[in-house]
Amino acid sequence: MAFEGLTERLQKAMTNLRRKGKVSESDLRDTMREIRLALLEADVNFTVVKDFVKTVRDRALGAKVLEGLNPAQQIVKIVNEELTKTMGETAVPLNKSAKIPTVIMMAGLQGAGKTTTVGKLALKLKNEQNARPLMIAADVYRPAAIQQLQQVGQQIDVPVFEMGTDVDPVEIVRQGMVEAEANHNDYVFIDTAGRLQIDEQLMTELANIKDLVHPDEILLVIDAMTGQNAVNTAEGFDQKLDVTGVVLTKLDGDTRGGAALSIRAVTGKPIKFVGQGEKMTDLDVFHPDRMADRILG
Ligand code: GDP
Repeated sequence: MAFEGLTERLQKAMTNLRRKGKVSESDLRDTMREIRLALLEADVNFTVVKDFVKTVRDRALGAKVLEGLNPAQQIVKIVNEELTKTMGETAVPLNKSAKIPTVIMMAGLQGAGKTTTVGKLALKLKNEQNARPLMIAADVYRPAAIQQLQQVGQQIDVPVFEMGTDVDPVEIVRQGMVEAEANHNDYVFIDTAGRLQIDEQLMTELANIKDLVHPDEILLVIDAMTGQNAVNTAEGFDQKLDVTGVVLTKLDGDTRGGAALSIRAVTGKPIKFVGQGEKMTDLDVFHPDRMADRILG
């Protein structure tokens, strides 16, 4: 379950506070210390934690919460609102092109969940909008990558454009776009190569694909289980590619939650979807307010 430790610790801090009835400034200080530790232990970015704690404290003092009725409840409300804000306030929909096809390019490290997410998103669009997507296999470095996308395609009944592994990925994408136009596909997904870590060659290749097709959406796929590394990776990709959104995968296995709470605040880029399992239907729109409710338990 995601956020296990954080939920438990925040609940404990809030229960301690509720027990007080009347809350003094020193009680508030203690609570803020507990929240700070809970967030740091959940692997939330240090600066994000610092800003968060300061904002909650300032708001509580500014609104004279301690003098009012039910201070504990007011503080819980402020924490909930600030968690929501930290994660981006509202859900951000996929960009859509005025004329078809809408082009969605995926980027991310190897194993982050790009191929799986392409399938999940294509299925979602098919089910919800009756969309007719085409998926382009542009990872030529791992022969298994093309097969994997083809298997996903068969599973969800969405066509895959591929040219094997001997053609330059930019050329594959160029020809894939021609195919999409000919077939009037309304969405094109570009499944790109990943590496174990960010490297120049990969970034250049991704930048070349971006320059060729000017995607409506560049979705950075990030593995939530990698915590602060996920945040660093997101920053690295974003600097080179100026991504339009993030998909946070494997939230089902992320017991801490640091990436979910840090990525928006650190990169300024919205988390648009979260992956919550290996099945093709395990993809959800990211709602910061619902996530904040879930974190507070
Ligand atoms: P890629 O190298 O970035 O294309 O990553 P893949 O799509 O091949 O995914 C790597 C592994 O992560 C696969 O075993 C997927 O089933 C798994 N995976 C992807 N998304 C999720 C998710 O949201 N939850 C879980 N539990 N596993 C996921």
